[in-house]
Amino acid sequence: MVGSKSNNIQAKLVVLGDMGTGKTSMVLRFVKGQFYDYQESTIGAAFFTQIVSINKVTVKFDIWDTAGQERYHSLAPMYYRGAAAAIVVYDITNMVSFQRAKKWIEELQKHGNPHLVTVLVANKVDLSAKREVEIEEGKQYAKENGLQYFETSAKTAENIHDLFHEIAKKVVQVV
Ligand code: GDP
Ligand code: MG
Repeated sequence: MVGSKSNNIQAKLVVLGDMGTGKTSMVLRFVKGQFYDYQESTIGAAFFTQIVSINKVTVKFDIWDTAGQERYHSLAPMYYRGAAAAIVVYDITNMVSFQRAKKWIEELQKHGNPHLVTVLVANKVDLSAKREVEIEEGKQYAKENGLQYFETSAKTAENIHDLFHEIAKKVVQVV
């Protein structure tokens, strides 16, 4: 999980959630600063790295952008083994994706590392006219489960930077 004792930390970050919630778009927004309207669906898992500096500490994220996990009804342990942080994404315009996010969180709580920094992310807030999951529902669930909560848009970039910086901060505190 942690690469070094000095000011450089390497942290595995796994991104989970239902297909189409915007996991890949979110990661690409963070890593490349761009949004692609016709994002090709990810096959298997994609891997990205990005560095975030928190004060004098450099956090190098190894990001595992998962796909297709829905089919297996449970997450392959390789995804969360050694992970320092997990982002669980749902789409605010899709209630089913919120229910699925809860399932991922239950699984992480059961099998993940007890110090895993876990964040619940409500994505696609630019589509709030089509919202099916109220802010309060997401917030409340996060609170009850001791998770951080963010509302984001990979499309407009709203809160994306803050999301990853908050995770980096938390990871630095945990090590
Ligand atoms: P993934 O399957 O979770 O990796 O989802 P993708 O990143 O492939 O996104 C699925 C679709 O939703 C694509 O057409 C994206 O362009 C779109 N999308 C992703 N994030 C957002 C967002 O924040 N707002 C809007 N309006 N569309 C989004
Ligand atoms: Mg994807």
